[in-house]
Amino acid sequence: MEKQMANDARPWLLAECNYEYVKNADIRVAVIPLGATEPHNLHLPYGTDVYEATIIGERICAEAFQRGAAVSLLPTIPFGVQTNMRNLPLAMNVNPATLDLFLIDLVDSLVNSGIEKIVLLNSHGGNDFKPLLRTLAGRDQTVFLCDWFKMVQDVYDSIFDHPEDHAGEMETSLALAYFPHLVATQPDGSLMADEGATRDNRFHAVNQGWVQITRKWDRLTTNSGSGYPHAATAEKGEQVMALICNRLSQFLLELSESRLDDDFPFVESTS
Ligand SMILES: [Zn+2]
Repeated sequence: MEKQMANDARPWLLAECNYEYVKNADIRVAVIPLGATEPHNLHLPYGTDVYEATIIGERICAEAFQRGAAVSLLPTIPFGVQTNMRNLPLAMNVNPATLDLFLIDLVDSLVNSGIEKIVLLNSHGGNDFKPLLRTLAGRDQTVFLCDWFKMVQDVYDSIFDHPEDHAGEMETSLALAYFPHLVATQPDGSLMADEGATRDNRFHAVNQGWVQITRKWDRLTTNSGSGYPHAATAEKGEQVMALICNRLSQFLLELSESRLDDDFPFVESTS
């Protein structure tokens, strides 16, 4: 099978596959990575979420594929919901309803190709896809959602010292590990970043989480960062990546091997 491919093409990445390979391939799981184009404090690039989604997607699909999963990673969608960053330059907004329609079209293309197990690998906190999952719930295909930045909370404190929100310690650690050439530093080697401090809301109920809002990012932050980035290291980035890859590659393998029977995705009934 693989000799149908160009020498350096990785068969788990759709963008690198040719038609000769794809028309004969048995692909059962598709992963759609979603990033964003937005400021990340003063030191990380606008494409941070795109790089994160792509690197995580490539690694989990490589590992799952090499263990036997019939999985394909789609190209990363570089834009996301930025309605709360409207006042920051070149935060490239796609409204939630538009993004949902776009994803429904992609899901239809996958289903049309016989792929009914679909994973959204979301790298951007402004994207909220649970309503989309509910919209699609009545269909035959099953769409799974992973907000990867939420999946390490049980071990977060064993790796990091400061909470992550946006361009903080975790994101900066991943950047230092996987795209260090795009992390801006001062002449003394420290990050070209401020403290990532944010303002409290004036309402106690909002600060407690009893009442929710979406936060206007230009008022909340000083330079778009929310979370202290200066404790970041490449080693911490590698640690969290290893954890994400272990968890998600195992999931992709199980998903690939799971039969689309009448009980899917629940355990088989014993009766
Ligand atoms: Zn980010």
